Amino acid sequence: MPYSNIPFEIKSKNNSLSGWSFVIDAGHGGAERGAAANIPFASAEADLNLGVSLTLGGILEACGANVFYTRKADFSFNQTESSLTDELRSRADFSNEHAPQFFISIHHNASKGPRKNRVELYYKLFTKGPARELSISILKELSKLYPNHDTALRSGNFAVLRENQGEAILVECTYLSDPLLSSQLETFKLLKHEAEAIAMGIINYAKYSSPQAVQFDTSVETVSDSALDFLIVVKGKTDSMIEAGEKFRIIEYMDDEEELLRRIERYRPKTVFILFESANEKIEHYYRSNKGKEIAESMKVLLSGATVAGTSNYLLSQTSAVCLMISTAKVNRIVEAIVKSDEW
Ligand SMILES: [Zn+2]
Repeated sequence: MPYSNIPFEIKSKNNSLSGWSFVIDAGHGGAERGAAANIPFASAEADLNLGVSLTLGGILEACGANVFYTRKADFSFNQTESSLTDELRSRADFSNEHAPQFFISIHHNASKGPRKNRVELYYKLFTKGPARELSISILKELSKLYPNHDTALRSGNFAVLRENQGEAILVECTYLSDPLLSSQLETFKLLKHEAEAIAMGIINYAKYSSPQAVQFDTSVETVSDSALDFLIVVKGKTDSMIEAGEKFRIIEYMDDEEELLRRIERYRPKTVFILFESANEKIEHYYRSNKGKEIAESMKVLLSGATVAGTSNYLLSQTSAVCLMISTAKVNRIVEAIVKSDEW
């Protein structure tokens, strides 16, 4: 167990985090199970998230921090049947009421394929300061626990982060498909170590900064006052002489995905089409979005011979709107079809 080789400083109560406050959010819970787990005692991600969150909160409290929990048992936050959007917004509202220095959402990812495992840290879109720095500090410790995992540090546009007015991060501690999680004993040990690693990341961060009074982020500018029906992102030039309308805009693609995401969000579009010039006709939609799939299927008619596929692509998963990525030899025709269509 690599992490146990690291001198762990939290042996007894101390004041290393006095003055700090945190909202710990154990992802999912109640009817929302999260990613499926193939582990003997845990039915799904929701259970593991809770285990890590409670242990983490306990360590932070022992270090003198003020900790608020969105849930402390296997319930949803609202404890009533509410839509997922309302549930996530309620968690963010709870955090906004408590105005902690950090909101920390705990998750575990999963992959179906034989993809390599990964530790993923997401900080709220548009925030490059404390949330990103804390993410780096936590990522460093989790990488010691999982030295063979890939790492990802990115801005994330998840609802619990987006609706949060303060500094907010989301941790995907590991993938549930990790063979290390196949035995109960190993899993218990790892969950505890995950909590310790995250706590260590927080403590290391806190050493070099002092708990600032929370300031709400008001720097996000939106380009349009009302939400756009759709935004078309085109890679390369389009010959279409279409002026931006009230309900749509056409912007140029950029390789920096975070920057592009930032631009997309400023338009507050309902639907985003990202068009690439290509010989192969292919329509990709985010695999968890039914609406995206529906639109992709209806667009197939325009692109004869096109394949439609669900994808977990970062850009598509992080856009708050329904987002589709389309490779086509007929960029101009598709732009015109989208603009004229009442369907999307
Ligand atoms: Zn999750």
